[in-house]
Amino acid sequence: MNQFQPVAGGVDRWVMPEAAMNAVVIADGGEALVVDPGTLPSRAAALLDAIVARGDRLVGVVITHAHWDHCFALGAMGGVPAYAHPAAIEELREHGEQQRQEVLGLAGPKTAAELRELDIVLPDTPVSDPVTVRVGAVDVELEPVGRAHTAGDLVVHVPAAAVTITGDLVETADDPQVAESGDVAGWLAALDRLASRAQPLLVPGHGDPCGHERLASHTAFFTHAVAGDGETG
Ligand SMILES: [Zn+2]
Ligand SMILES: [Zn+2]
Repeated sequence: MNQFQPVAGGVDRWVMPEAAMNAVVIADGGEALVVDPGTLPSRAAALLDAIVARGDRLVGVVITHAHWDHCFALGAMGGVPAYAHPAAIEELREHGEQQRQEVLGLAGPKTAAELRELDIVLPDTPVSDPVTVRVGAVDVELEPVGRAHTAGDLVVHVPAAAVTITGDLVETADDPQVAESGDVAGWLAALDRLASRAQPLLVPGHGDPCGHERLASHTAFFTHAVAGDGETG
């Protein structure tokens, strides 16, 4: 049974069983915004039911980047704007089916059946410049940070809660993973930017929330990789 795990006032995470991905819900004044709905539409629908059961209405969805574990369930969140970096939308359009085939190779029979059937829905609202979305009376800032973990990463700042949601730009469950479409130099720049602009508490794509010390350890990880033999995995 899944449940909300409070992160800060008005911000909860909901850990999806697939890849232990953190879906994050920002709620205020009867409205809710979901960051990263996860992999399976049935799981996202359960999250949506829990949001409605709390008395909130979904007003939008944000996709931090175009990886299956963060965005394949988008189709279950229909009828609201879905925000993403324009390059993430393109990446999903071009490589979504390829990702589905790769994940099918790892999935159990029940997950595979749902994965095979789901529609890979593209976010409809490209965010090429920082934009503020209101959830109740709370300002939520969407900041595209460019090519880093993937071709188009986007972070979500909630200053009222002192929280920044980073997607896979920050990992606490593992070392940072550079995707084929990603870029180490871009990631180092993104880490610099987060160090100066992010709120004190970071919610990563996987694992527990952390502080800015994790930005420094990722920077050291990449700096070592660049200074070494260039292999970054
Ligand atoms: Zn991920
Ligand atoms: Zn990822």
